[in-house]
Amino acid sequence: MTPLELTGRSDSHIVRTDSGALAAEHFTAEAFLKMKSYAAKDGIHLQAYSSYRGFNEQLKIWNDKYLGHRQLYSPEGRLLDYSKLSEEQLIQAILSWSALPGGSRHHWGTDIDMIDLSSMPEDYNVRLLPEEYGKGGVFEKLDRWLEKHAESFGFFKPYREYKGGVCEEPWHWSYAPRSKVLIQEHSIEIIRQAISESEMLGKMTVLERLPELYDRYVKNICE
Ligand SMILES: [Zn+2]
Repeated sequence: MTPLELTGRSDSHIVRTDSGALAAEHFTAEAFLKMKSYAAKDGIHLQAYSSYRGFNEQLKIWNDKYLGHRQLYSPEGRLLDYSKLSEEQLIQAILSWSALPGGSRHHWGTDIDMIDLSSMPEDYNVRLLPEEYGKGGVFEKLDRWLEKHAESFGFFKPYREYKGGVCEEPWHWSYAPRSKVLIQEHSIEIIRQAISESEMLGKMTVLERLPELYDRYVKNICE
């Protein structure tokens, strides 16, 4: 994969399928659709809530949060007061819940946030919170099903538990046969280039701290 593709600045590695609901790289899309038809036999309507996401979309999330235009949470899920945060605290608050532009696994097309349409009440607003996937949650059945079967289709949970970087994301699955190769192709240098050429807020601080942020928020996953 090229540096532009790995940082979400090109989508030439992405196919769109599943009636437009899925945007992923070819092998991931194939595995997901196979798993989807298998899940259907157990009454689960597996759907991608979010799949490929480009650099600019990630940058917009980052800049909105940096300006305090979106709510910010601590790793424990506590709402934070934007006006009281130092720049360092602000960056940590953003990165606990949103990836660094250029450093999102969603850029690769191998990672999918999964939901079950059949378990959602009409007009249900998906929030992607851990409790939706836990006991009594709307996606509890989906989570149990995926825990049992997803691995045999090649998927694993990179954010299974909080390891001091990205918070627990039980909805986020990654297609290991491709993503384990891509994380090796990825490097701090290609993110540095992507960020340097962007209109990212707080760019100077992020670039200064990039080696530390890269280790903590990009490389730090559950294998
Ligand atoms: Zn995700």
